[in-house]
Amino acid sequence: MATDLDSSRNFKCRVLVVDDDPLVLETTAAIVRSFGYSVRTAEDGFVALKILREVLPDMIISDLRMPGMSGFELLSIVRRRFPHIPTIAISGEYILATMPLGLLVDDFFQKGGYTPQQLRDKMKEVIAESPIRPHLGKQDICPLWIPRVDANYLVVTCAECLRSSSIADSTVSEEVQEADCLACGAPIRYLVDSSILKVLEHKRSLVPTLEP
Ligand SMILES: [Zn+2]
Repeated sequence: MATDLDSSRNFKCRVLVVDDDPLVLETTAAIVRSFGYSVRTAEDGFVALKILREVLPDMIISDLRMPGMSGFELLSIVRRRFPHIPTIAISGEYILATMPLGLLVDDFFQKGGYTPQQLRDKMKEVIAESPIRPHLGKQDICPLWIPRVDANYLVVTCAECLRSSSIADSTVSEEVQEADCLACGAPIRYLVDSSILKVLEHKRSLVPTLEP
């Protein structure tokens, strides 16, 4: 007999569950599996981003307070880069009560404050609504910043994890270049155009050299 989940889609929905507490992670994963979904697990936001690079899930359920990369960071990255993926936060935090929830997640459950049936109903609801959300697309050239004080490096922001890495400006040339993000390891593509090179030259002429 086909369940209502199987009949609405021809494939098993893939759900990524993120929690730093191994017991909570396994329990939540087991509950979600029992609904008929295919489940992958991650113990923090960085691991979750790595999984997202391999295969996009149909839904993400995440804790908020985690070491490394928190759920707040992860979910805001997901909302920006993959706005079509529905998300639910499950957390012991109360902070979301005063936050504009829709900016970060589709729904929120208090840890220990819901039944599996409530979670199942909510998951079906947000997955059914997910195609409505517009897909803004992936940004593949990363933002580049020039620090105002020091002249010898540029700062590039990783489009995957939003962490910043510095790049020695002696290596720049006027074309798209690549570096690896120091935080998450994702390849960062950035473009140094002529206006940036002009600013760098100007700054070099202003900052005294401290080398002997
Ligand atoms: Zn990164």
